[in-house]
Amino acid sequence: MPELPEVQHAADSLGMQIVGARIACVERLDWPRMVETPAPDEFIALLAGRQVRGWGRRAKWILLDLDDGWTLALHLRMSGSLTVHPANAEPDRHTHLALRLEDGRRIFFHDTRKFGRARLLDATGLAALDAAHGAEPLSETFTVEHLAELLQNRKRAIKPLLLDQSVIAGIGNIYADEALWHARIHPLRPAADLSASEVAALHDGIRAVLRQALANGGSTLRDYRNSYGARGTNQDHFNAYDRAGRPCPRCGATIVKTVVAQRGTHYCPICQTIP
Ligand SMILES: [Zn+2]
Repeated sequence: MPELPEVQHAADSLGMQIVGARIACVERLDWPRMVETPAPDEFIALLAGRQVRGWGRRAKWILLDLDDGWTLALHLRMSGSLTVHPANAEPDRHTHLALRLEDGRRIFFHDTRKFGRARLLDATGLAALDAAHGAEPLSETFTVEHLAELLQNRKRAIKPLLLDQSVIAGIGNIYADEALWHARIHPLRPAADLSASEVAALHDGIRAVLRQALANGGSTLRDYRNSYGARGTNQDHFNAYDRAGRPCPRCGATIVKTVVAQRGTHYCPICQTIP
């Protein structure tokens, strides 16, 4: 699933191509469950004629700022991608939402697994989406002290806590494993048990792995593409994630794969121990 770096690149590569353009119409919506709000017919009616004024990202949501105070929020979930095409392009059978711009270009929301979602939000809806998500880990306000506050009194294991979007937004399975390896923290350690120096190391790890992934265009395991259709290269730089049976780049021990909170979890049994 695309995480913060991939969603940021998807948002930027889409926004740069379509900012200033006006949506002529929704050309295809053949999987109505893709639209969570409002009702599909209202979604189609409200989008017609809207101009794209800007773009952003919140957690794993791509946000397109439209005129009249509307925001089109798009979530790629497992296998979604958003791409911009010339007027003569034809959507394939996995393109479940297609928008036509007034300049003739088309935007395809392609999703083989159909978990991708769209919401058209007014200011109240956007505020609710914002409130449902936790700290943005690359924001200025995400300090070591803030992370320490988020972890204190929480008995949950640190790995599932990092995946909880209502606590910290944008981290998924890849960057949780990579950040914990970076900080030398075992994924099953109770969050509240981390020492001050471990919290600082985790803060550094979270930001380092996200920034590295941003610099590498995100990670492409299977489906992820940015909105120009390009793959990321950060999968070539993993230290723990997807490296079971291979040597830890730091100590040479064999990286182990286990299951934590139903998610495949990769760690080094020598660098990341339970005291
Ligand atoms: Zn190691």
